[in-house]
Amino acid sequence: MAIKDKLAELKASLPAGVRLVAVSKTYPAEVVREAYDAGQRLFGENRPQEMDAKRQQLPADIEWHMIGHLQTNKVKLIAPYVSMIHSVDSAKLLGVINEQALKNNRVIDVLFEVHVAREESKHGWNEGELIAYLRGGEYRQMQGVRFRGLMGVATFTDDGSVVRDEFMRLNGLFSRLRHDFFGRDFDTLSMGMSGDYLQAIACGGNMVRIGSLIFGARNYV
Ligand SMILES: *Cc1c(COP(=O)(O)O)cnc(C)c1O
Repeated sequence: MAIKDKLAELKASLPAGVRLVAVSKTYPAEVVREAYDAGQRLFGENRPQEMDAKRQQLPADIEWHMIGHLQTNKVKLIAPYVSMIHSVDSAKLLGVINEQALKNNRVIDVLFEVHVAREESKHGWNEGELIAYLRGGEYRQMQGVRFRGLMGVATFTDDGSVVRDEFMRLNGLFSRLRHDFFGRDFDTLSMGMSGDYLQAIACGGNMVRIGSLIFGARNYV
């Protein structure tokens, strides 16, 4: 199936109010262009250099989202244009994003990445750490970032109940933080990938990050 047909089919399966991040990491700019030509404007990448290279080859009205672990020394590469950073996994990184946003006279939308999966390797805050950090109040001084919500990755497993529990935990934390700290602007719950996006949506996710279902299997080099 052509990319535009896959995209159309996928979009038809998303309820109103759920935004689609087309995850274009590893796919070349020509392929991303096909999705752009089919009307997609929101793309996700996990490496700053790769995002930057594609941005230079593609139209300027694309909204670029950083979804992968970000090193502090790479923030300056994307700070001039990135729309949202989903992968804020430390206070230090948040501080650098704020600093770089201010340098560029911008406000960057951010999500806290929360670790809910069983795999050790997945990045993110645990719930207690994040709440303790927010209680410290330091985040309130940051004028260069807008706190929009949470991002999470579920365990890679066929066991639907594990995945559901993890998504429900993310949703519970999301509601709590919105209520206790942030209010209405905190409106984005980024969860769900090609294999589990329907479950994520059923658990309240309103932003899904989908790559292989649109673009086909990735070749990692
Ligand atoms: C690669 C990636 C995705 C997309 O994965 P697919 O299974 O190809 O849909 C989503 N989120 C993150 C954080 C990723 O790194």
